[in-house]
Amino acid sequence: MITERNIKWHKPKITKKDRWGSNRHQSGLIWITGLSASGKSTIATELECRLFEKKIKTFVLDGDNVRHGLNKDLGFSPEDRKENLRRVGEVARLLVDAGILTVAAFISPFASDRKAIRSLFSSNEEFIEVYLKCDLAVCESRDPKGLYKKARRGEILDFTGISQPYESPVNPDITIETDKLGIDESVEAIVAYLTEKKII
Ligand code: ADP
Repeated sequence: MITERNIKWHKPKITKKDRWGSNRHQSGLIWITGLSASGKSTIATELECRLFEKKIKTFVLDGDNVRHGLNKDLGFSPEDRKENLRRVGEVARLLVDAGILTVAAFISPFASDRKAIRSLFSSNEEFIEVYLKCDLAVCESRDPKGLYKKARRGEILDFTGISQPYESPVNPDITIETDKLGIDESVEAIVAYLTEKKII
C-alpha cells in the first residue's frame, strides 16, 4: 500500500484538440461489447482497416491480445476481470489523448465496468458504446475458438452466457444485430455513425 505519493500532473503543451486539428479527425474510444463469438474481434479488425484506408489514426485493443502482455498476470476471477478492464480503460484514455481513434473489443459483461470506463472520458462523444446483439444460440453455433463446447463440458468455469451473466447495454450508442447483418454491413453502420457525428 502506497501511503505517500509525491506525484503531480504535468500539463502537456500539445493538447488533444491540437492533435485533432492536425489529424483532421477526432479521437475517441469505440467500445465493442457482446457475447463471445458475437463478432467483436472480427468487426474491430475490419473497422480498423476501413478507418486506416481513410487515413485515420486508429488502433485496436483486443481482449485476447492484451492478456498476452499488459494483463498476462490477470485471470478471470471477478476482481481480475475488473482490473483487466480498468487497465484497458486507462490505456485507451492515453491513446485517445494521443489523437487515436481507438477500438476496443471486450466482452465486458457488467454494466458497472463499462460505466467506469465511460467515466474516464470527458464527453459522451469520446466514448461510443457498440453493442453486438447476437443470439446466444448463434454465438454457440459459430464458436470459432471452441470455447462454448469447453464451457458446456465444464472445462471453463465462469463463462459469460453459460455460467456467468451478460448484462446487455440499456442505452448503447450503436446496436448491431450480428446474427442478422453481415460483417461489411456491421462495419458500415459504425463508419456511418462516426461520419454523422463528425468524428471522422
Ligand atoms: P468475438 O471476438 O466476439 O469472440 P469473433 O470475431 O472472434 O467473435 O468471431 C465471430 C465469428 O462470427 C467469426 O468467425 C465471424 O466470421 C463470424 N461472423 C458471422 N457474421 C458476423 C457478423 N455479422 N459480424 C461479425 N462476425 C460475424
